[in-house]
Amino acid sequence: AAALDPETRKLTEEREVLGPAYRLFYRNPVHLVKGRGSHLWDADGVEYLDVYNNVASVGHCHPRVVEAITRQASLLNTHTRYLHENILNYAQDILSTMPGPIDRIMFQCTGSEANDLAVRVAQAYTGGEGVIVTHEAYHGNSALTSKLSPALGTAQTLGLKMRMVPTPDTYRFEIDGKPAESCSAETFGAWMTAEVRKAVADMERHGVKFAAFLADSIFSSDGVYPDPVGYLQPVIDTVHELGGVWIADEVQPGFTRTGDAFWGFERQGIVPDLVTSGKPMANGLPTSLMAARHEVLEPFAGSIPYFNTFGGNPVCMAAAQATLDVMRDEDTMGNAKRVGALFKAAVASLQNVHPCIGDVRGAGLYIGCEIVKPGTTDPDQQAALDILETLRDNHVLTSVCGRYGNILKLRPPLVFSEDDVDWFMDAFTKTLTTLKL
Ligand code: PMP
Repeated sequence: AAALDPETRKLTEEREVLGPAYRLFYRNPVHLVKGRGSHLWDADGVEYLDVYNNVASVGHCHPRVVEAITRQASLLNTHTRYLHENILNYAQDILSTMPGPIDRIMFQCTGSEANDLAVRVAQAYTGGEGVIVTHEAYHGNSALTSKLSPALGTAQTLGLKMRMVPTPDTYRFEIDGKPAESCSAETFGAWMTAEVRKAVADMERHGVKFAAFLADSIFSSDGVYPDPVGYLQPVIDTVHELGGVWIADEVQPGFTRTGDAFWGFERQGIVPDLVTSGKPMANGLPTSLMAARHEVLEPFAGSIPYFNTFGGNPVCMAAAQATLDVMRDEDTMGNAKRVGALFKAAVASLQNVHPCIGDVRGAGLYIGCEIVKPGTTDPDQQAALDILETLRDNHVLTSVCGRYGNILKLRPPLVFSEDDVDWFMDAFTKTLTTLKL
């Protein structure tokens, strides 16, 4: 490992106070002090390209969001037991981006809290308890959602009331152990529908009534599987037929990320029963949402009070509103579509030269790049980690996802530009050449 400079070593050692659960990125950790757009600077003034952070959705420190936060913070910040315009105006505005039947919204601070609440709402509505998630899903860190997050490791997920369905892996799609001939929406949808049926049948065999399918329509932590569009419809129809609801976890695909629609579920053409989101919503302030059809919300909310000290406060709502305004005014959806397509094509163009790139897929500015052993579809996690570290040395920040940790997760702020794609491609080409991959 590279020798750390004294300041980095000091800060790294001081982090012991945080305990061992905190994990830093990189052997040579990055100490960031400033951000703007898709660019970040470290304490020595070195500039980095951010190809990872979806929280700074409209770009780090967007001046309009900073101004909205500053203005509201200097006037008032308090909880939601008093009247305030910010929460009501934002509630109306964000609901106007969703299909009509979704007409109620509640605010929290994190995606974990939003999913936690959504599961409780789904359980009250259906009278069931069982929840289905995908094999590598991550839905949060609360007592409830950590048990619905297999990505955290199996010890967390042995809950009797949770069942997993396989990752919808279009790259290695097999039926009965053989590579499937086609991965059309029809065959893929039929396969996943059968998996959901099996999971519900197993739940019921153990006396657990089915409540919800909790899934992110881009299957981000599973490894980025946005396609084929249309395959989720029969899956969700089956969820409904079996008495459950779909909680669309929009933490990753929502807020224009896919370039095709404001919401991931919209891209798939489905109206969910419950919607959750967080990360990209307020450009960095801890703000999340859970939206629902009013009849789905009623059995829970009609009997159980809900108070969230910080959720929906005027400062967070001002930040969320400014973020939404910027998304519209700067057309982040159009940018995600246009630059995302260029980005994906550029990365895919390296496949001929660098056989470690097995598959490049994605939607808008959410791209997954499979690093494999050449000539196979076998994941190469070590190569992926070497790429991450070398990209970092070349001043590009990104990460990996998927079961084997071999899929580069390319997910920059939504203001990523063509010049940023060029910067990435230079660094990526240099990295793969240096590593002889
Ligand atoms: N759902 C998904 C799909 C996520 O990716 C995350 C966070 N990575 C969460 C939920 C949890 O969000 P938070 O960290 O804000 O609690």
